[in-house]
Amino acid sequence: MKKCYIIIWLFFLSCHVLFGQNFYNDLIKSEKQKAQNLRKISEVQYPGDSTIDVTYYKLDLNITYTPQYLNGIVTVNFKSVSNSLTTFFLDLQNSMSVDSVTMNGSAISFFHPLNIPKLYITLPSPFVYGQAGSIIVYYEGVPGSSGFGSFEFGTDKSGGQTIYTLSEPYGASDWWPCKDTPADKADSSDVWITVTNNLTGVSNGLLQQVVDNGNGTHTFEWKNSYPIAQYLISLAIANYARYTTYFKFAPADSMPITNYIYKTDSTQNTISLLNEVATMIGIYSKHYGPYPFLKEKYGNAEFGWSGGMEHQTITSLGGFYETLIAHELSHQWFGDKVTCKTWHDIWLNEGFATFSEALFYEDQYGKQAYDSYITNLMAAAKVDKKNSVYVDDISSVSRIFNYATTYAKASIVLHMLRGIVGDSIFFNVLRSYNSDPKFAYGVATTSDFISVAENISGRNLDYFFNEWLHGYGYPFYQYSWNYTYAGSGNYEVSFTISQTPRTNPSFFIMPVQLKISTDAGDTILTVFNNLSSQSFNLIVKGMPTELVFDPNNFILKEAMLSGQPQEIIPTEYTLDQNYPNPFNPLTIIHYRLPQISNVKLYITDVTGRIIKTLVNEEQISGSYYVHFNGHAYPSGVYFFTLQANSSSSGSGQSFMQTKKMVLLK
Ligand SMILES: [Zn+2]
Repeated sequence: MKKCYIIIWLFFLSCHVLFGQNFYNDLIKSEKQKAQNLRKISEVQYPGDSTIDVTYYKLDLNITYTPQYLNGIVTVNFKSVSNSLTTFFLDLQNSMSVDSVTMNGSAISFFHPLNIPKLYITLPSPFVYGQAGSIIVYYEGVPGSSGFGSFEFGTDKSGGQTIYTLSEPYGASDWWPCKDTPADKADSSDVWITVTNNLTGVSNGLLQQVVDNGNGTHTFEWKNSYPIAQYLISLAIANYARYTTYFKFAPADSMPITNYIYKTDSTQNTISLLNEVATMIGIYSKHYGPYPFLKEKYGNAEFGWSGGMEHQTITSLGGFYETLIAHELSHQWFGDKVTCKTWHDIWLNEGFATFSEALFYEDQYGKQAYDSYITNLMAAAKVDKKNSVYVDDISSVSRIFNYATTYAKASIVLHMLRGIVGDSIFFNVLRSYNSDPKFAYGVATTSDFISVAENISGRNLDYFFNEWLHGYGYPFYQYSWNYTYAGSGNYEVSFTISQTPRTNPSFFIMPVQLKISTDAGDTILTVFNNLSSQSFNLIVKGMPTELVFDPNNFILKEAMLSGQPQEIIPTEYTLDQNYPNPFNPLTIIHYRLPQISNVKLYITDVTGRIIKTLVNEEQISGSYYVHFNGHAYPSGVYFFTLQANSSSSGSGQSFMQTKKMVLLK
């Protein structure tokens, strides 16, 4: 799911202009209603009845727009997970009224208390463990609408009738009796939608048939053959235009991508965006494994909430832009195929789908596009320093779907994991998690994902997931560096890193990459920072000129260089062997001065004649290097000589050394 902030903002601005004060009144009214809806959540006994295991749902719904009303017949197949099951409950809000419950064609006893949103059902005789049963609930009423709008009667842009659902997280029981937890998926489901002939009813899976009832209504019979969580069962009803493209997954095999769009929105821009969906499925199939519902379909159905919701095989879409379409599509792998077991673990859905937005950018537009997308997500993640990615309080819908943590920071956790283990292992982790028989078409928790990441990478990653998923905020680093000559053309870089003290965690343990540029080239080294203040000594080839902290921007952080890097002053005069040697035509000569000196560096041939003076001036203490270009000279043996005399009188030293080099053309 993803809320479409840009569209909301534009909508707000335009409404403000158009409706002025009335708009504010309506807004206040709707906000009050929203607050009441959120209060209802605390009444939901989570996580459903643990004494039954649901195996199948069939929703046979007759919905009228005028009057706004729902008549439902819901079949629930289940198995007992209790040794002596006599009574169990389904979740159903009290705005719906239950007429009867039957089993094997006979009415059975039920109780739907006025003030508790549960439907208690008493079995005619006790069920033993594993015993299967099927009940049918006949009910009716005007569904309430909670959360983001679990059941809505709305209008399209030309005032046409629309009806749609968005049950995540606690809204399924607003409109149908179910076990209201993602932890218990049904093995399959059917949704039959009866509406007036002007409307098209869209749901999960494949459309089996449309039956004309001969009374001005018709029934859309949808069948889903894959396991499905209760909140992913959906309705999208409107006077739709249908637009179908195909995803070709084998030379002679393709799957339909069926889009249901308000007729007023069937613009060229919408169509060209929908034409990209097949490419997107290809991109995610490559990184995550085959599209999970290949036997059925993918599609988008327009609805009235300004955002998107990843209903299984048929995303509900309230806006048309690339990253929203990509986000919802990627949920088919992460959210729908593997579903978070509890709302505490919602980052397993939303963090993965948000990371998938960046991955789509990388695949479609290149690494730079990915990098800048990640930079934006990092900025969004930094907005909230007080909440963890793991949702501790699931009684609040706004906490569960807190953009900064559940979406942005969670996606950066995956980006950081990518940085730690490298691309090949990282994508192997994602594919393995998505295809593991323990989780595929089932559910997973945070610790399930961590165990896959640790098994595939062969690393202990507890420290990483603990601090980033359960801790708050991000590290503030201060670092400094200097260098000193270490002999044989190598330098020792002394790198110091410290973190601003904080509470949870008290500091972040992270591998930190450093890019060190020297006159011999660039090198990336990794230090494992596991103390709040720490120093590392690193050997590099050539004289360091620049150090870049976290050059690939893998870490969510602030980082500040404290003090300018300095060379530790050499203790003696030294002249290195040139490199390369033999050379043609370029070579480099390094030398060091312990104090301010008059320096002369020159090249002689075998006769002792000076053929080139490279340096002839006063220089301060430090390391130096000079290029010599031999293009004007014949092949042969040459010599280079360093003469240095301390400029200070009295205790001044002097130095002279000559080395041999070979020009080979
Ligand atoms: Zn989402």
